[in-house]
Parts: sequence; structure tokens; C-alpha cells
Amino acid sequence: MIEVQGLVKTYGSKRAVDGVSFRVNRGEILGFLGPNGAGKSTTMKMITGFLRPDAGTAVVDGHDVTREPLAVKRTIGYLPESAPAYGEMTAEEFLSFIAEARGFRRRPERLAVVNRAIGLTHLESVRTQTIETLSKGYKQRVGFAQALLHDPSVLVLDEPTDGLDPNQKNEVRALIKNMATEKAVILSTHILEEVEAICTRVIIISRGQLVIDETPAQFQARQ
Ligand code: ADP
Ligand code: ADP
Repeated sequence: MIEVQGLVKTYGSKRAVDGVSFRVNRGEILGFLGPNGAGKSTTMKMITGFLRPDAGTAVVDGHDVTREPLAVKRTIGYLPESAPAYGEMTAEEFLSFIAEARGFRRRPERLAVVNRAIGLTHLESVRTQTIETLSKGYKQRVGFAQALLHDPSVLVLDEPTDGLDPNQKNEVRALIKNMATEKAVILSTHILEEVEAICTRVIIISRGQLVIDETPAQFQARQ
């Protein structure tokens, strides 16, 4: 589903990403670990088509990111690190607004995708509340719901449980696990416990290069 081969991104004389290769299959949850500044965001931005690689390729569900960035954006659901803005909108207004921006122009169709995303993320009880009044855990679920609107086959999640309390973390992890059965998921994190709890594989990036690509069990055996 995601096939990354020799990705390179240079800023000035600095190689932020220096020849990164890996793949993620359907049903896999890949944990992407690394210290701050190691190159995680830059790698994820190249996979989602927001940043053009200097060298190498990323193919997502058969679409080359450089040649078909729009097709890739349609395939991917992206959960940004920060919670959704538009705090004065209700959860359903926000989702409807994003759905319209994504090309669901007809109202019945838009309603259908919004309802589906609300159902998947268990937001029914708060759908008419404004986003600013929601707890962090619910805000994060609204973020997930927007990532799921177009029924993507690949999910790219930036620090999905960062800042949540232990209960909310567990809820969001259960959500990710459920969704992963028919999708390929890549999530960046700096929480080791998260990798052990839900990831099927882990890669570690350091100074732009992958230093580990293995199963959580292999990874744990090393600690
Ligand atoms: P991570 O997500 O692992 O924290 P990043 O991918 O954000 O790491 O950054 C990798 C390196 O590239 C860092 O040294 C960062 O300062 C640098 N970098 C990222 N974006 C830019 C940019 N737009 N211009 C210059 N340097 C950048
Ligand atoms: P986001 O969190 O939205 O992914 P980032 O924190 O990676 O954004 O970066 C915010 C903006 O600053 C981006 O345009 C990015 O390219 C740029 N940037 C990130 N790191 C650096 C850096 N070290 N030097 C210059 N620009 C940077």
C-alpha cells in the first residue's frame, strides 16, 4: 500500500531525510519513531504529497506521489499533530465543511459521509457541540473523523495520542486498531508503549536515516 524507496530531502546543505526506504501493507500499523528533528515530519509530508522529494519515490496505493499528488491525497487520510481549528463550529458543521472542501458537493452525499465518519469515531453524543467545548479526547476523534471522510485506504497519523490522558489514549488506540484491519497505517510517535500496544512493525529514524525496521517483539528484546 505504501512503498517508499530511497527518499531524500535536503534543506540547504542539510539532508533532513537521507535515503529512507520501507513499505507498509494493508492491515499493518507501522510505528515511526525517532527523536525531534530526525526527519519524521519531512518523511510523512513527502508520503502525503505535501512536500516534493529531491530524490527517491513514494508510491501510495499504486499512485506515485510526485506524478499523481492529487490521487495520493484522495487515497490518504491524514491526522495532523494539532487538533482541528474552527473551534466555534459544531463537530458536524466542521466535518460537513471539510467534506465540501474535499469535493462532496451534493448535500445528501455530504451528510452520508459525515454520518459515516461520526459513526466510526463514536461522536454521536457530541455532534452538535462546538469543537472548543469538547475534551481533548473528543477533539482528537473529530480529527480522526475528518481524516476518514473520503474513506481512505491509507492513514498517516502524526502523534495521534499525544497529550491525551491514559483512558483517551486507550480509546484512540482501539479506534486505530479497528480501522487498521482494512487499511495501511503509519503513525509517528515518541511513546515506546504505543508501539508495543498497537504497532505491527516499528521503524526508527535518526539523522535522516533508518536505523531499525523490525517487529515490536524484536524491538522489545533489544531493550
Ligand atoms: P521530526 O519530525 O523527526 O522532528 P523534521 O522532519 O521536522 O523532524 O525535521 C528534520 C530536519 O529538517 C530538522 O533538522 C529540521 O530542523 C529540518 N527542517 C524541517 N523542515 C525544514 C524547512 N522547511 N527548512 C529548513 N529545515 C527544515
Ligand atoms: P507542521 O507541524 O504543520 O507539520 P512544521 O512544524 O514541520 O509544520 O513546520 C512549520 C513550517 O516551518 C513549515 O513550513 C516547515 O517547512 C517550516 N520549518 C520546519 N522546520 C524548519 C527549520 N528548521 N527551518 C526552517 N523552516 C522550518
